[in-house]
Formats: sequence, structure tokens, C-alpha cells
Amino acid sequence: MADAELHQELARLVGALAEHARAEVLRGEQWAVAGAVTGRGPALRAGTRGPAARGGAGPSGAAARPPSADASPARAADGAPRADAAPTARPERGVSQAALLAVREALGDCQRCGLHAERKQIVFGVGSAQAELMFVGEAPGRDEDLQGEPFVGKAGQLLTRMIEAMGLRRDEVYICNIIKCRPPNNRDPEPDEVASCEPFLRQQIEAIAPRLIVALGNFAARTLLRSELGITRLRGAFHRYQGIPLMPTFHPAYLLRNPEAKRPAWSDLQAVMAEMDRLGLPRRREGVDPV
Ligand code: SF4
Repeated sequence: MADAELHQELARLVGALAEHARAEVLRGEQWAVAGAVTGRGPALRAGTRGPAARGGAGPSGAAARPPSADASPARAADGAPRADAAPTARPERGVSQAALLAVREALGDCQRCGLHAERKQIVFGVGSAQAELMFVGEAPGRDEDLQGEPFVGKAGQLLTRMIEAMGLRRDEVYICNIIKCRPPNNRDPEPDEVASCEPFLRQQIEAIAPRLIVALGNFAARTLLRSELGITRLRGAFHRYQGIPLMPTFHPAYLLRNPEAKRPAWSDLQAVMAEMDRLGLPRRREGVDPV
């Protein structure tokens, strides 16, 4: 079978798995007891969609795409950012893990764009296949390229502290990048590289079906939202990506260089925590201001 046909077949299988997951969730919602869900066990996952149930580029980076209607910010009358999240189906644990593995299989030893030439390894993603919250950055850096895991350098350590400050563990969320291979000298990815790689991010999101996404940094936010606006204009309000509420915030690498931006970044994460609480999504403890 030719590469293109193999890719199409694997993509079809991923879609079929996700469809199966949605059917399973709908079946589960028929017996789920509203208001009874407080934990994260697989049996609770089936009906946890309703509120009762359940780099870095800094502001100077660029990723020009036409604006999209899917990128409209939402704020409540009091000015507080609101995700206004519509309930969506969620895969069962085994199904989402299998779907995620199928996406990785489809990616294979990818050579779909020129970034494959200088990479040490593909940096696919890390974390829970059942994550409610997903962090999406730009592309791997040197440390990530060497270790094969996203956000493992100093910026990654800061991201881990940010996640823990939210009352979560790193292994409870899912972390990945738009681009899976390191651009030479950490330059911004080119449009053709984004076009080649973003379909796999979309499939990852479809497999995991997170309730909320945080876009880390200018490039990630502008690319995902198809926006010409910079991160300083986009952050602070929920937008949508594939129908999922998305909060843009500063990239941890930018925060390392600009500590004064930690306060607004923490404000963004507080809005995400508030939305998680509103949706009934579990966190281990209250957020602790790390700034
Ligand atoms: S960046 Fe993405 S599309 Fe390009 S070679 Fe790597 S995995 Fe393939």
C-alpha cells in the first residue's frame, strides 16, 4: 500500500475510533447520575460532560492566517472570561488511548515536511489520553528534540509549576505542540510545515477530546485561532478551536525572559481554573498563586 493510501486508511481508522467513542459516551450518559460525579474513574467518564456531571514566541512572533469565526472571544457581562463550553462527547479511557496510538501510528517516521531532516526524534506529546485540559505550544526546542518529550527544558519546568499551581499534576493534563519536529535554530515554523503537521494535532485533540485548551505563546495562539492579532490582544479571553474553549496565554519561555508577564499569565490560568470548576472538572486543590 502506498504511503498516501496508508495515511488515508489510518486517518479513517482514527475517525472510526472517535465515532465509536462518541457512541459509547452517549450510551453512558443514559445511566450517569447527574451530580454524583466528583472523581476521575473510567466509570464516571461516560457522563461527565454537563456542569452537574462532570519557545517560545513572545508578542513579537508571527503566524499569519486569515481570521476565523471559530476564534471569537467570550466574556461575561461582568467582564470575566467565560468559555461558554457546550457539552461534547468524551471517549472512554481505552478508546481514547487507542485512538491516540492510532494517530501516532499514522504519523509514523514522518517526512511530510522538511523539518524531518534535522530532527533527532519526533516529539508527539505527553500526558493523559483522558485529559480534561490540554496545553498546546509551538514546536520542540533543543531539549525536547533530544528527549522526545515536549516542555522538558527550563520553560517546561516552569510549565510544570504552572500546572501544579492550578491544583493539577503534569500527568493529568496533555501537553503537545503544533509542530512535532524541532525547527532549525528554533525559528518559527513555516506555513507549509504547519499545514503538514497540524492535521495530526487535530487528530490528537479528537482522540483526547479535552474540555479546555490552553495555547502557549504567540505562535500557537495565532496559528490555532487563525488570527492576525498578537498574544497580548488574544490572551485573557476564551476563544474556540474545533469547538473547544481555548485560552491563549504567554509561553513559559517568554515568562522566563519577562517575569512581569507572569501576573497576567496567572490571571489567564485562574480563568481556566474557574471554568474547570464551573464545569465540575476535578482539581486536587485550590490554585496557589505562584507569582
Ligand atoms: S514537523 Fe510534522 S509534518 Fe513535518 S516532518 Fe515532523 S512530524 Fe512530519
